[in-house]
Amino acid sequence: MSVTPMMAQYLQIKAEAPEALLFYRMGDFYELFFDDAVAASAALDIALTKRGKHLDQDIAMCGVPVHSAENYLMTLIRKGFRVAVAEQLEAPEEAKKRGSKSVVARGIVRLVTPGTLTEDTLLDARAHNYLAAWCDVRGQGALAWADISTGAFHVSGCPRVRLGPDLARIGVSEVILAEGSGVEDIVTEQGAAVSPLGRSAFDSGSAQGRLQDLFGVGSLDAFGSFDRAELGAMGALIEYIEITQRGKLPLMRPPKREPASALMAIDGATRRNLELTRGAAGGRDGSLLWAIDRTVTAGGGRRLERRLSAPSTQIDVIRARLDAVDWSVSNDTVSGDIRRDLRRAPDMDRALSRLSLERGGPRDLTAVRDGLTSANALFSRLSDTNLPLDISDLVGQDDLSALLDRALVADPPLMLRDGGVIAAGYDDELDEARTLRDEGRGVIAGMQRDYAEATGIASLKIKHNNVLGYFIETTATHADKMRADDRFIHRQTTANQVRFTTLDLSELETKILNAGGRAQAIEERIFGTLRAAVLAASDPIFAAARALAELDVATALADLARGEGWARPKVDDSRAFTVTAGRHPVVERALKKDGAPFVANDTQLSAEEGAAIRLLTGPNMAGKSTWLRQNALIAVLAQMGSFVPAEAAHIGIVSQLFSRVGASDDLARGRSTFMVEMVETAAILNQADERSFVILDEIGRGTATYDGLSIAWATLEHLHDVNRCRALFATHYHEMTALSAKLAGVENATVAVREWDGDVIFLHEVRDGAADRSYGVQVAKLAGLPTAVVARARAVLEALEAGEREGGTKPKAMIDDLPLFSATPVPVALQQKESAADERLRDILPDELTPKQALELIYELKTLS
Ligand code: ADP
Repeated sequence: MSVTPMMAQYLQIKAEAPEALLFYRMGDFYELFFDDAVAASAALDIALTKRGKHLDQDIAMCGVPVHSAENYLMTLIRKGFRVAVAEQLEAPEEAKKRGSKSVVARGIVRLVTPGTLTEDTLLDARAHNYLAAWCDVRGQGALAWADISTGAFHVSGCPRVRLGPDLARIGVSEVILAEGSGVEDIVTEQGAAVSPLGRSAFDSGSAQGRLQDLFGVGSLDAFGSFDRAELGAMGALIEYIEITQRGKLPLMRPPKREPASALMAIDGATRRNLELTRGAAGGRDGSLLWAIDRTVTAGGGRRLERRLSAPSTQIDVIRARLDAVDWSVSNDTVSGDIRRDLRRAPDMDRALSRLSLERGGPRDLTAVRDGLTSANALFSRLSDTNLPLDISDLVGQDDLSALLDRALVADPPLMLRDGGVIAAGYDDELDEARTLRDEGRGVIAGMQRDYAEATGIASLKIKHNNVLGYFIETTATHADKMRADDRFIHRQTTANQVRFTTLDLSELETKILNAGGRAQAIEERIFGTLRAAVLAASDPIFAAARALAELDVATALADLARGEGWARPKVDDSRAFTVTAGRHPVVERALKKDGAPFVANDTQLSAEEGAAIRLLTGPNMAGKSTWLRQNALIAVLAQMGSFVPAEAAHIGIVSQLFSRVGASDDLARGRSTFMVEMVETAAILNQADERSFVILDEIGRGTATYDGLSIAWATLEHLHDVNRCRALFATHYHEMTALSAKLAGVENATVAVREWDGDVIFLHEVRDGAADRSYGVQVAKLAGLPTAVVARARAVLEALEAGEREGGTKPKAMIDDLPLFSATPVPVALQQKESAADERLRDILPDELTPKQALELIYELKTLS
């Protein structure tokens, strides 16, 4: 059976990337065949067709237009596919030269995976997109991660138990693992894609050489000393990038070591629960990041997200960041000017990365040009202020700036091939070719005038299309006049038009084409030189971009602090946790929309050593969770170097932050909610130490009352006696308030409510002391439970409470003693609204109906029920 040459080529390319969908370039389309076509047409909701036969079977096919391919790529990547892009590597004419049956040479130019995107349309401008590799060398683990769209590159030790929390902190899209590493589940649980790679890619020996080549150094010592696991992880990462980018390496900055102890440890469950960078719905909305992000550049947005995801534990780092915010708060005119300047600064990081991967266009060069200009302007503005930030990186690229200014037009087109990128006056040869080309166009206009006059056809036009090139066009009615003149050579007749050419016109066309082609070639050459000049200065450009991002973050946080009335926290290495008039930034914002005020609350945890725990009781909906979370968020904000939503705050460094909520649904992971709650609580009890800050909300809620109470009780004791941490513990088990008398580090607090005529009014005020009761029945009434049920619940409650007072009557006996019905039972039937069918039935007098009417009525009733 014969296979067409094209199919043979397709199958050969497909074999190079069997795990990916193959986008096979055919003219203006990327085509997909066989199973790829079936999968892609379903995922993209596009038509599935057939194209010829292979081994007697129809070949399934679908295709996407090249010009809109990015949207389709994005959908496929989001749905978990990888895509290999095979381009035509030569012009069709070249293939024809080899023989009439030759197929255009094609090859994979790129593998698109979730962690290796560079296009702006595929990326979130304000978030990093990290690719990571994890390596384990005899129990010693390490994680390397990079954002190839910005060149950021990091490495840190990472034992298996820390892999989940570290991936959650970094927010990785894709993780490269050695085959059989056994940690795939940890990766997928964090929502990242797994990419297996052969074990040899993780070899630390060859990694060393690969890294030295990449950074052009003879030894890696200048970057720090790396153990074998770290080298293995970095090496595998680089190899994977080489594979997916087909040998082209993006600009990577030297690897930065991140010692885990320098960052506040926050595990995945805590991040989700506190909604640091993602809200409950999974997007940015409703998250802390959403509430605080006032940055005006993409680079600043990414930096803020990084800071929030990884607050520091280093007092000097935190203070330096706070100093910069403080300065911007007190110099609000200058910082307003800075923000205005910054708005004009483009995303230089991502422009650089695209240029290095040969995917950059003219606008990536102008991004660098405009970014450097903004940086320069900001430096002049700030050089004689006492801003406590190092801004020296903003300047130093005068030559490059001047070159780009001179060489590029103000607003170039998106694509280099559209021409008009290089400014007039920059290159003599280019100017000359352009003049020739443009003059030619002028001559054509003159020619049109002459021909119109000579033939007497005023409507005669000289036009251009890709098939005929230049041609003279007239309507069929005038065509005879032209045929009479033997200068005009007939080319084509369409429905309404007749097209001609002349020898002069074809000659001129060749000239224009030649000049145009030459101009294009020169522009391409100059673009290449400019690109090389930019890449040669990539280190200082990255540094300038970082300095711009720093300025953006500091001034954005200051803008927030001023606008929302936030205060500079005092951060030191004590064990203080004191907040005066603290607020929850996200809840406050939501309330503000409804015009409701947020009630500020204090927090006071004091203990030089040992545990410092507040046990919070109060009815549901009183504001317990809000208070717990706002304190955790204040710790995060303070340690990321931001002002905090409070009148004052004093936070002793928190090394680990934990937050757990009783029995939240986690069906996605297929565990029972109670099991999840217990697994997460176990993690805290095993890990928290004296420097940790823990918030536990309604632990034990997911099981029977006595079980739940006992678990909550034992958990609190363990936190107090063993973990000895600072903690806020909310519970509806009033029995636990007795623990404060027994445990020195536990104090009671309650959220105040007022009872008014059988109803509760929430005051949202946190006070010392224990709640007197739970007000569950009142809250249920507020929620709109039927009156009869509320009344009945009250009766049951009274009986239960009376039983308890009298000393342990068995619940069974109490229930037997209860009156069978509540005082004024309301028949359920009456509470329900009459249905339309009932209403119709009520009006019917059966004796007066004819048999036919009766039948019709039955049909009618059928439609009403
Ligand atoms: P609980 O955990 O006690 O059930 P929540 O903390 O979930 O209660 O709060 C319930 C609602 O009460 C919140 O959604 C918010 O609208 C409101 N609330 C909570 N705290 C405050 C506050 N300090 N000031 C104003 N409203 C608040």
